[in-house]
Amino acid sequence: MTETVLAASAAAADPASGLALDDALAAVRRALGDDPERIVRAPEPGGNVSDFAGRLLPAMIRPAHAGQVPDVVRAFARPDAPPLHAVSTGRNWGLGSREAAHDGAVRLELDGLDRIRELDVEAGHAVVEPGVTQLRLTSELTGGPRMLNVTASSGHSSVLGNALDRGVGLRRQRTDDLVGLEVVLPDGEVIRVGWWPGARSAGLPTAGLAPNPYGLGPSLLHLFTQSPFGIVTAGVVRLLPRPEAQRVLRLAFDRDRLAAAVDELRHWHVQGLVHGVLKIYDTTSATTYGTAGGPGGYLTHIALGGTAAVADAMTGEVRRRADASGLFTSFARSDQEPPAADDVVARVVEHGYAGSVAHHEEMLRSAVGRDAELVDGEGGGWIFFLPLVPFTGRDVTAALRLLDQVHEETGIRPGATVNALDADVIDLVVSLRFPREGTGPRQAHAALDRLYELFGAAGYLPYRLDVDHGDWAGRLTDPGALALTRRLRDAVDPHRVIAPGRYV
Ligand SMILES: Cc1cc2nc3c(=O)[nH]c(=O)nc-3n(C[C@H](O)[C@H](O)[C@H](O)COP(=O)(O)OP(=O)(O)OC[C@H]3O[C@@H](n4cnc5c(N)ncnc54)[C@H](O)[C@@H]3O)c2cc1C
Repeated sequence: MTETVLAASAAAADPASGLALDDALAAVRRALGDDPERIVRAPEPGGNVSDFAGRLLPAMIRPAHAGQVPDVVRAFARPDAPPLHAVSTGRNWGLGSREAAHDGAVRLELDGLDRIRELDVEAGHAVVEPGVTQLRLTSELTGGPRMLNVTASSGHSSVLGNALDRGVGLRRQRTDDLVGLEVVLPDGEVIRVGWWPGARSAGLPTAGLAPNPYGLGPSLLHLFTQSPFGIVTAGVVRLLPRPEAQRVLRLAFDRDRLAAAVDELRHWHVQGLVHGVLKIYDTTSATTYGTAGGPGGYLTHIALGGTAAVADAMTGEVRRRADASGLFTSFARSDQEPPAADDVVARVVEHGYAGSVAHHEEMLRSAVGRDAELVDGEGGGWIFFLPLVPFTGRDVTAALRLLDQVHEETGIRPGATVNALDADVIDLVVSLRFPREGTGPRQAHAALDRLYELFGAAGYLPYRLDVDHGDWAGRLTDPGALALTRRLRDAVDPHRVIAPGRYV
């Protein structure tokens, strides 16, 4: 146990902090009303699908609208009160779900803040609250000129929650979609950082008509992603223009061609033949996510689009290069050969590239065996490890070899999908699937520890952390940068109203 965890547990067991919690909750009741559904002292633990140890949870608060959040924060800004840990829809499956990083934090569940405050398909942005799900926002965009960069997770997960953890969609990393945030600071003040639409028409000179997430001078936007500096009550996300024609090419290659195929695919990426996040599934991960085991080897999904003539030209060029390379064993295009009805992965990927979550719940059920509501309580065990790897055949091969090593050492075979964020960077999504009874959880957590050690030593470092490995943020951050983050935290949150979380 880390020092911070011990300190938090001690504070939670301390009668003085119990009294401070009662006082804080009384103040919250005065502000929110005395609704036992919205303010719960010592709630039942809900578990998490990764079987990380359940954190000591003194209370849970569910505000009904954004205006109540500053009241909650101010109620907890008192000596000895436990800190607050905010979640949006809390579906951070694989990294800890809705658990806090440490014992003793009061959970602030923001799924009740579910307004789409503004939707401008012409200009290309939406102002959403934390409880707005992918399903909700995409259903407003169906058939229109704009689309949301959706992730492959459930349609019932939060657009903003994912972006705040710097998640990855089918089109690009979600951080690229985020242009503005409304934040409640630890003293209860509400500020807006980045770009906010309508500021000009409201008489504020702070925002122009075109989005500029960085503003002028030091950029504050990402002070609040992966961050304990504030609680987010709304955000501005960009909506991508929908191309006239879109399709997905599927190309298979054999295991022994991995390095050469990755280098070839990178070359296509550099030449502009790939739109969105190129994905390579190995057979273990495809089976894990619901596609019946194929012939063995890998399947690549490449999205492309534009006018119909551009899509045709790109398709022809990919086909020509694939044939010339001699590396690929099959080639299919979604407009002529749609994925088979039982090919869950290919269906999710194809619809996901086009901003639809129509098949996402099928993949979730294949992965963890349950619908979104029941994943944490009853789902099959699931853990993510998320390192970035250079987009070269050599590095991808070396990274996948480390997975073989983990398999040999622990008996758990990790699944992996290779996601090219751009022509240089791979987001390697490593999943550990395990039975939640017997030795399953212990084995899976030993495998996770090994993944951190082996990938850390190789220089393939994670860009998101799970609730048990927050100490890696300190290990993997430059000491000067870490010291500055701590100084900023002392300035922004001297009384530690917000829990430190996984990253600070
Ligand atoms: C089958 C499957 C597929 C998946 N595919 C993907 C994928 O393609 N891409 C991907 O990125 N993930 C994926 N995931 C992981 C996960 O489900 C998603 O990242 C999901 O969007 C996170 O849950 P959420 O949206 O409810 O966010 P939350 O759990 O609500 O939030 C995530 C974290 O952000 C912070 N946070 C949230 N809200 C606030 C707030 N209002 N103020 C301050 N901090 C806040 C907290 O630290 C919180 O723990 C997948 C999971 C599964 C099981």
